[in-house]
Amino acid sequence: MTKPMFERVALLGLGLIGSSLAHAMRKHDLAGHIKGHARSAATRIEVERLGFADSVHEDPAEAVENADLVILCVPVGACGAVARSIAGGLKPSAILTDVGSVKASVVRDVSPHVPDGVHFIPGHPIAGTEQSGPNAGFAELFVNRWCILTPLPDTDAGAIKALTAFWRACGSEVDQMSIEHHDMVLGITSHLPHLIAYSIVSTAADLEDVTKSEVIKYSAAGFRDFTRIAASDPIMWRDVFLTNRDAVLELLSRFSEDLSALQKAIRWGDGDHLIELFTRSREIRRGIIAAGQDTAAPDFGRLPSTSSE
Ligand code: NAP
Repeated sequence: MTKPMFERVALLGLGLIGSSLAHAMRKHDLAGHIKGHARSAATRIEVERLGFADSVHEDPAEAVENADLVILCVPVGACGAVARSIAGGLKPSAILTDVGSVKASVVRDVSPHVPDGVHFIPGHPIAGTEQSGPNAGFAELFVNRWCILTPLPDTDAGAIKALTAFWRACGSEVDQMSIEHHDMVLGITSHLPHLIAYSIVSTAADLEDVTKSEVIKYSAAGFRDFTRIAASDPIMWRDVFLTNRDAVLELLSRFSEDLSALQKAIRWGDGDHLIELFTRSREIRRGIIAAGQDTAAPDFGRLPSTSSE
């Protein structure tokens, strides 16, 4: 029998991402023992029932004892407190990583609690759905999705190599970039689209002369896709906007300017401007399909691997 990639892996947070990682590790035999921690008894009981972890711990420090790989899978705003609670239990030479959607705030909040000898490598799988909780996970979530690592200067090359191999074994492609660049790139590809979706859904809900039943009945005209994105976990997204504030505000002001230009083009009947912009947008969609990040098939329903990020 071949040895698993890591003897013991600890998952702190057992929602969509934590449970998906556990399923992927089980499927590909990446961990000898999966240790899980969630703060609520309800989640721990559910995880015991689902059986995707080998042991479930109430105490986060106990969950990381002797673990070679420790993965923070909690909302970005909770990473600092969780890192503080496990600091005393971390094994020297362990790899500590996270899956948070924002990187600067996680590095700021977690770094002070990382003991000497522990290799902290921030990470972010660009994979998700609008579902949350321990029932939402599935092993294929990361397949053909990118995982971005934002290693700090002087991080041990061997540890980066081991974490890269782990994500590849889960089915991901792995890229590295700076923390600041990550937060700007994800600001435009994920955070701003979510903000727009939340805003459009709320605008539709508040429209007085269109009934709620009409919004639902005719949603396939475009609105439906926004509602899927806007159904994402409120706590996770509150934390994303509060922690990636500068990048999101900068992108939002650019977006507002572009929206004003569109408003002007419509008001003045400038069809050429509209054609130019819509043609450019279509090219971007084609590029996404060509890169294998979506399919061109008409979408009349949802496949479980649909990404929300
Ligand atoms: P989730 O399904 O809502 O699960 C969150 C987990 O974190 C739960 O186990 C929850 O514990 C725990 N938790 C929540 N608040 C906590 C706190 N204040 N202290 C300690 N634990 C807390 O969320 P998720 O989708 O897996 O997201 C986890 C992380 O992955 C986030 O940082 C998010 O930014 C990142 N991410 C998400 C996606 C996505 O599309 N969902 C994609 C990529 C990365 P209980 O169950 O006990 O409440």
